[in-house]
Amino acid sequence: MKGPTPDSFRANAEHALQDATLQHALGRAQSGFVAKRAHAIAMVDDFEQLKQRAQAAKSRALANLAPLLEQFEASVVASGGQVHWASTTGELNQQVIDICNGVGAHRIIKGKSMIGEEAGLNAAMEHAGFELVESDLGEYIIQLAQEPPSHIIAPAIHKTRQQVAELFKQFHELGDRGLTQISDLVNEARQVLRSAFLTADVGITGANLLIAENGSICIVTNEGNGDLSASLPAVHIVVASIEKVVATMDDASDILEVLARSATGQHMSAYTSFFNGPKREADAGGPKQFHIVLLDNGRSDLLGGPFESILSCIKCGACLNHCPVYTNVGGHAYGWVYPGPMGSVLTPLLQGLKATTPLPNASTFCGRCEAVCPMGIPLPQMLRTLREQQHDMALDNLPWRAGLGFYSWLSLHPRLFNRFARWIRMGLKITPRWLWPRHRQAVQPQGTTTFLAQWQHRKTKT
Ligand code: SF4
Repeated sequence: MKGPTPDSFRANAEHALQDATLQHALGRAQSGFVAKRAHAIAMVDDFEQLKQRAQAAKSRALANLAPLLEQFEASVVASGGQVHWASTTGELNQQVIDICNGVGAHRIIKGKSMIGEEAGLNAAMEHAGFELVESDLGEYIIQLAQEPPSHIIAPAIHKTRQQVAELFKQFHELGDRGLTQISDLVNEARQVLRSAFLTADVGITGANLLIAENGSICIVTNEGNGDLSASLPAVHIVVASIEKVVATMDDASDILEVLARSATGQHMSAYTSFFNGPKREADAGGPKQFHIVLLDNGRSDLLGGPFESILSCIKCGACLNHCPVYTNVGGHAYGWVYPGPMGSVLTPLLQGLKATTPLPNASTFCGRCEAVCPMGIPLPQMLRTLREQQHDMALDNLPWRAGLGFYSWLSLHPRLFNRFARWIRMGLKITPRWLWPRHRQAVQPQGTTTFLAQWQHRKTKT
């Protein structure tokens, strides 16, 4: 059966709204993120200033992306690592498979990576015969459930505690152990993952930032699984997209100042780690090989255009947590790996407007996404531009287009407009509630006259 796609957003959303378990999980989880972010920001004297520094660091990086990437590659090579370039997700998957084959690997441990999700890396690795285990708890849960992530920082946010316990019961040898508390679930996953860390031949991780001046990569987690995936196996492969590069450690630290606060409401994530090249002689541990596979996948085409600043996105998830659409329908409704407002912009840019027609319209334009975005990305304006492009390409809904045309003509004829408004008002008053679309409250017009008539009456009185 075909799973949800961006093109089936409306049906996916309808389905999500009727899923009582999903609604329960979403309601409980989202409010925590919003309150924690607000508290973390209130604790900072001048969060605006921190945001401006982070935005400036990213803008400088995007303005100099090509030379910075070259500098990053030279720094990685100088510290003993290797950089591989991938134009497409297929190339990225093949590069990772080739590296793993080259070292005779069989078992892979993997940290959370949105680029891995974008590329469908897990499926490609499993198809190529590797045994791959996700080490991030949320990713591990959805790997067992064979589902895509539903949030960019909390991939299993749609799952209730009971559903996770059921999954562990199905896939682990629990005996007569019951898993009723969250701590039981975490300990259970920890036991299983411990042996996966110790027996893995290769560790794959994502990267939150790439630092050009010294070839380091930065991984931010709260579980420490990224650190273990990066340092225990003999080979560490990093998969990252090109726009993750920044010039200096100072720039990286400016971005880290806003990342954890916007994402989880922390001053700093529990594990904010920098990795640089393979193990040196004096190091106590670390991988013998250090590879970085850098993905473009259409991003360089966005440079210099109206959507360039979406490349500033640091995947904090704040726009998702504050979006009235995302918080009601969850991430799977968006049909691909990037949900919420940032996904409604990025997915059409990476997959094309034709295959993602409903996404630019999956917004109320309330503006909260832009207001909470630490990188100041004008998401509503970008959604508006995508809608205009859809209109120019005649991709928008034909009845809607005809309706707007009629409305535009009517607006230019005030007498007819007033008469039409009166008819509509009367029609709404007599429409039975059961004829209203589901999930909308039937607010019927009150009083005996229209707004326009009242306005006219007031004007003549004054
Ligand atoms: S668009 Fe802004 S708020 Fe949304 S994930 Fe990216 S950086 Fe965070």
